[in-house]
Amino acid sequence: MSQPLTIAKFGGTSLANHAAMQKCARIVLNNKATRIVVVSASAGVTNHLVSLAHTAMTQQQTGEVCEAIEAIEMAIVAQLQNPAAVQDKLDDLLTEMRALAQHEEILQREDLKDQLLSMGERMSSLLFSAVITELGNPAMNFDVRKVLRTDSEFGAATPEPEAIASLSTALLAPELEDAIVVTQGFVGADEQGKTTTLGRGGSDFTAALLAEALSAQVCEIWTDVAGVYTTDPRIAPNAHPLPELSFEEAAEMATFGAKVLHPATMEPALRNNVKVFVGSSQAPEQGGTWIMRDCEEEPPYRAITRRKEQVMVTVKTPKMMYAQGFLQQVFAIIAKHRLSVDLVTTSEIAVSFTLDNPANSVAQRLNKETIADLETLCDVNVEHGFDLVTVVGNHMQSATGVSSKIFAAVADYNLRMICFGANPHNMSFLVNEKDSTSIVQHLHKALFE
Ligand code: ADP
Ligand code: ASP
Ligand code: MG
Repeated sequence: MSQPLTIAKFGGTSLANHAAMQKCARIVLNNKATRIVVVSASAGVTNHLVSLAHTAMTQQQTGEVCEAIEAIEMAIVAQLQNPAAVQDKLDDLLTEMRALAQHEEILQREDLKDQLLSMGERMSSLLFSAVITELGNPAMNFDVRKVLRTDSEFGAATPEPEAIASLSTALLAPELEDAIVVTQGFVGADEQGKTTTLGRGGSDFTAALLAEALSAQVCEIWTDVAGVYTTDPRIAPNAHPLPELSFEEAAEMATFGAKVLHPATMEPALRNNVKVFVGSSQAPEQGGTWIMRDCEEEPPYRAITRRKEQVMVTVKTPKMMYAQGFLQQVFAIIAKHRLSVDLVTTSEIAVSFTLDNPANSVAQRLNKETIADLETLCDVNVEHGFDLVTVVGNHMQSATGVSSKIFAAVADYNLRMICFGANPHNMSFLVNEKDSTSIVQHLHKALFE
């Protein structure tokens, strides 16, 4: 790309209704470099689609959920100057959605589930391209499945960056000459052309993948907060936005639960040195956070994150004392199910580790299968009710006084596991879920206020 290119991604609340969409459209039109827009589904739509794909429902219940989705989309169409321009296409999408929701195999077939989950982004991209067009700039709705190649792991597909780069150069780049391209986040397609999805919150990842593929200079993530904060402002009201972050710090924050960015977003950005900006679509004048390779500062504490619903698994075998291959077997099972383990502790006869257990995702199913597999090997004890609290920063092991300050702030709480990361950017605690809010608030006060 010879001309400068910015990719802008808008999240669900940013696209919740027509007024919010208009603010987003102005952000796009205010920057001549912004020629690709990646959208999430309008707020609430993906949750509805997940419930259709995962819960057994009566015909009437299915109908009611479909109507709730339709109401969100139709409220936006009703505010367009020229609703007729999109009505037929929207009707086709709603028909496809109903057919999938009523499909007799929807609860069994992962490929159908992903096709259903993709409907939210396919509808919002249609409507958002109309909103931009009405503000006087030609815009097209581009089907991302032509370029966003993934494997066939439905529900949590892995993108294939080389294929995405060549397909995007061939099929997406030429479209940028004549119009602003609006395309779907979260959605991809495998080699057979079957629709896949990248996991909840995956639209951020899509934006970064397309930015990498087309060598964009900037990837903007527009959301409902004015940047990445020292911690989730919903947990600690005194949290404040960070002007800058390194790719490593941001990746660490996302991995350990800062929902503002999908955990994989930083990988493509880092590979092609794309600067990432995070800001509020409803208050762009407030500025936001720049995430880049070289930051001005490397402070010991940058932020605190929390990941909810962690599961602690303890595997135990008296044979472990003699069996050198035991750990390897345990981790082979975890690897087979493609789950990631965060904290690990070992003793002579037992190993404990944590697994993420996010609601509404495929991981719940995988966790059950993983545990069944482990039970063929040894005794397995599963405990629920934990959150993972992580302090993200720099040089955390080597800087003097860093860990003691953190420990002092959490001294009054019962900590189930404590772990320095294998890199210098994090220190994590597994805590009882009832304590996690006040632990985060306490730590925030001690480190940032
Ligand atoms: P979008 O729909 O735009 O993708 P998300 O809901 O996925 O938005 O992410 C934005 C939310 O992330 C914020 O409303 C905030 O509550 C939450 N969040 C968690 N941690 C942080 C953090 N460190 N900084 C900012 N927001 C955070
Ligand atoms: N719409 C999808 C979700 O709600 C993807 C996203 O918003 O990033 O998870
Ligand atoms: Mg998100």
